[in-house]
Amino acid sequence: MKIHEYQAKELLKKVGVAVPNGIVANTPDEARNAARQIGGKVVVKAQVHAGGRGKGGGVKLANNEDEAFAHAGKIIGMQLITYQTRPGGQKVKKVLVEAASNIVKEYYAGLTLDRETSLVTLMASTEGGMDIEEVAKNHPEKIHREAISPLTGLNAFQARSLVYKLGIPAASHARAVKFFQALYRAYVETDASLLEVNPMILTAEGDIFALDGKMNFDDNALFRHPDIADMRDLDEEDAKEVEASHHDLSYISLDGAIGCMVNGAGLAMATMDVIKLYNAEPANFLDVGGSADQARVTAAFKIILSDPRVKGILVNIFAGIAKCDVIAAGIVAAAREVSLNVPLVVRLQGTNKELGKKILADSGLTIIAAETLSEAAEKITAAVRK
Ligand code: ADP
Ligand code: MG
Repeated sequence: MKIHEYQAKELLKKVGVAVPNGIVANTPDEARNAARQIGGKVVVKAQVHAGGRGKGGGVKLANNEDEAFAHAGKIIGMQLITYQTRPGGQKVKKVLVEAASNIVKEYYAGLTLDRETSLVTLMASTEGGMDIEEVAKNHPEKIHREAISPLTGLNAFQARSLVYKLGIPAASHARAVKFFQALYRAYVETDASLLEVNPMILTAEGDIFALDGKMNFDDNALFRHPDIADMRDLDEEDAKEVEASHHDLSYISLDGAIGCMVNGAGLAMATMDVIKLYNAEPANFLDVGGSADQARVTAAFKIILSDPRVKGILVNIFAGIAKCDVIAAGIVAAAREVSLNVPLVVRLQGTNKELGKKILADSGLTIIAAETLSEAAEKITAAVRK
């Protein structure tokens, strides 16, 4: 699960990460009041679950409360497009009004689990404020890392080592060490899967601040954090993915034209690969799970078909615990219920395969049967191209 910058900053502040003084606003009037309360120059920042807002016109400096009002009027309601939003952009509903900092230097700080060492790792770089993926690719030597033992947490000497590597001036060393240690606490205590502060800044006053904040959480741990679960903003999520989560379906929306319904995550990945092998693109990843029943199959069909990009559907089922006849009955019922109007290719293998095939054949529906996965991919790509 993802949250907004203003929510991440609330969580960071609680554990002692320094953040600029800020107030969230839903309307230009609220933004004006916020600017008045904060006093002086402020920055008005669009709140969407995507980075790159600065370049996209979603971060504006205001010299006074009138300018804050005017900026908020333009930003709230805008369709903000950045390299991380959906192609059509995301609608801005809130802005964060924040004291403008006197930035001397922008750094990058991030925490995530390094799967190679199985340790939470703190990364820091002098190349802050910009696209860190670019730095990782072209100048990997500029990203410094400290792997953190779960027994000790981030040791002061580790934090200091990063502080020296970043060249932070001596007067701010203690603040930077405290900052990194608090950042690690924020990551661990909230069961985060990613915490990025880009930029972390050094101010003219010698303060170290989190100027931006991005946090993702492990969904499996959300039950331990009802306060964080409440921060979920469904408007920022793909409607089809939200609907799928209500039916316990693992669904991820993609850009292609071929809808896939598969049981098992590995098989779903393989199915997407084979579709690509036949020069087509999958419209989604969808794992209906091992215990797929008729209700789930119907829900899955409806979700796939609610995507206007879908020009054909490929069902690939390897039945072990699930049974081909149950799945076939589900497919027939679902196809009737949703009045299917795109080509449908079905490949069934495993338990009760013959029974399943008979149900499909007897249904009177135009279902294209396939024996192997490559045959299925070939047939659906051909049917879609017609
Ligand atoms: P994004 O990463 O989505 O573009 P950021 O929060 O990183 O958004 O803001 C982009 C840039 O705007 C920052 O790198 C910084 O230069 C400037 N900025 C953001 N917040 C402030 C602030 N409170 N004071 C001064 N400058 C800011
Ligand atoms: Mg940023």
